[in-house]
Order: sequence, then structure tokens, then C-alpha cells
Amino acid sequence: MPTSIDPASSALADLTTPALVVDGTLLQANIDAMAAVLPGPRLRPHVKAHKTTELARRQYAAGHHGFTCATIREVEGMAAAGLGADLLLANEIVDATRIGAVVERGARVTLAVDSPETIEAAASGGVREVVIDVNVGLPRCGCDVADAGVLADHARSLGLSVRGVMGYEGHLMMVTPYAEKQRRVEKAMRTLLQAHEAVGGELVTAGGTGTYQANAWANEIQAGSYVLMDTQYAGLDTPFVQAFWVLGTVISAHPTHAVADVGLKALGMDHGNPRVEGAEVQFVSDEHITFRPSDPVRVGDRVLVTPAHIDPTIAMHERMHVVRADGGREVWPVDLRGW
Ligand code: PLP
Ligand code: MN
Repeated sequence: MPTSIDPASSALADLTTPALVVDGTLLQANIDAMAAVLPGPRLRPHVKAHKTTELARRQYAAGHHGFTCATIREVEGMAAAGLGADLLLANEIVDATRIGAVVERGARVTLAVDSPETIEAAASGGVREVVIDVNVGLPRCGCDVADAGVLADHARSLGLSVRGVMGYEGHLMMVTPYAEKQRRVEKAMRTLLQAHEAVGGELVTAGGTGTYQANAWANEIQAGSYVLMDTQYAGLDTPFVQAFWVLGTVISAHPTHAVADVGLKALGMDHGNPRVEGAEVQFVSDEHITFRPSDPVRVGDRVLVTPAHIDPTIAMHERMHVVRADGGREVWPVDLRGW
């Protein structure tokens, strides 16, 4: 996987490593490619992938004015940044008072609920709008399809407005071949549409980077990873390209292997080892990546490490360094981190 940024570039020489670096041109290309397929409200970008309001602003500028969030902190940060026109917290919470406070300040926030407890938390916390989260096959949050109508009635009886249904088919993102993925996504979405018949409302929200093409049933897609990508999603046939890396410095070099300062504290590792171009990654430990380069490297050389999983990687970093087409650089704080 060739990288578009030259790690040896003098433009990066001042960076303390490990550091997140982003190719701003490729980032914009990914945003534009998705907006061409899913324009405006057809995409509700998930901010958990990048946790960065400056990046969300680019998605907003491309026409997506509603966003998906995973944490209360993400909702608060998006609203504070002026991006709170239509936020969906696609997650269950048992204390909604912080979300109620965000709504009080003028943002629009819709909460996913899948139980009487989470509905009651929404109502007592001052939230006004919910979606019924339905289990479409991923054993995570989401009610049984048979309970969706009763939960919607319960929510309405407490004065909540029910905007529709959500059903995240996360277990199908990497299914191959494509025809099999499509078949299984259809089955999952039939479940969601069945729930929607009982619930009503304008939203049927689902999907991600692995299913945005195959999901013809949801009326909005919650993809997030597409914007900067990772090695897992690179295995899929999509128009999106790798646009971020972790820049490291070689701190030890030997005839058999080299070591850089990008360890598992700078990388999400749950999808396996990262890649290093022109090298075979041997293992990753707390503060080190050990790799076998095909050409000799020297102590002090810079390397770009391509993460296997975007979301947990970015969440470990305080800022991203965005390289512009003119060679200049911007620093965007990863300001939606934490809880
Ligand atoms: N929606 C929900 C609820 C998710 O948890 C995720 C990711 O895990 C997504 C959407 C889509 O993300 P991605 O673009 O990584 O497939
Ligand atoms: Mn992920």
C-alpha cells in the first residue's frame, strides 16, 4: 500500500513521534466520493471514526448536516462546535441529563433506545426525540423486532417524539463474496423495516463503510471509517483510499530487523498488526513496532505505519497533522476524545 506522504519529507521533520498524519487531499477525495454516492441527508457520517470537529466541518461542507455519535462527549463537542443541527447518539445511555442539557442549549439530539429503562432515562433527562434501536443480527444493543412497537408506544406515552428505527448490521461489514453480503444485508434490513412498520417515523438509519453500497433499504447510512480508512477496510472494493498514518521514528536498527516508536499505545490493534510499506511487520509491543525492512533503514529514519483499525487508533492521539496540497500543514485537535 504506497503512501502519498513522504515520511522523510522535511515538512514533517519537526513532528514529535508517534504522530497522526493525514493527507488532506485524499481526505477530501474520500469525502467527495461518498457525497457523490450518498448526498446530503443520505449519509449521516459517524464521528466516532475521527473524533475531530474540524474534520466533521469538511463533511458538513460536503452537504451532510446530520451526524452520528457514539458517546455523550461526542454529542457535547459537536454541539459546542456549532455542528448540532441533527445529532444521533446511536448508543444506549442510562443517564441522559448531559444530553438534555445539550438540547436545552439549542442542539437537536436524537437518542437510540432499546428498553423501558433507556426510554425513561431519555424522558427524565430532558431529551425530546428517540429512535428505536433494533437488533438486526449483531449481538450488541437493539431490541427484539417484536418489541419495537411496544417500546415506541412507551416512548410516546412519556411525551417523546419517535423519529424511526435504527439497526446496525455491523456483523456484515466484511462478508464476502459481495452477493452474499447483499443477501444478508437485505435479510437484516427486512427485520428493520418490519420494526419500522410498527414504529413509524421518518428515519430508517443503519449501515457503515462495509455495507453502504449493499444497503438499499435504510434511508440514511451511518458510515464513518470511509473518511480516512484502515487496512481492514482496504480489503473491500470501495472508492476510498488510505488517508492517514502514524508517523514513527526508527530508534534501533539491526541486520535482521528495525524498531520504530509506534507501539500499541499509538495504534488500535484489535484488527491485527498494522502495515509498514516495504517491510514485514513482526510484532508490536507497548511502545515499539518491530519490522523487517526490505531495504536497510537507519536510526532516525521516519516510517509511516498504516493502522488496521481507524477508530481506536485516532482515539489514542490528541491531534492530527493535516498535510495540504501546497505542502503546508494544519493541526486539528482530536477534540471529541474521552467520555
Ligand atoms: N453505526 C454504528 C452504530 C456503528 O457502531 C458503526 C461502527 O462501528 C458504524 C455505524 C459504521 O462505521 P464504519 O464506517 O466503521 O463501518
Ligand atoms: Mn471501527
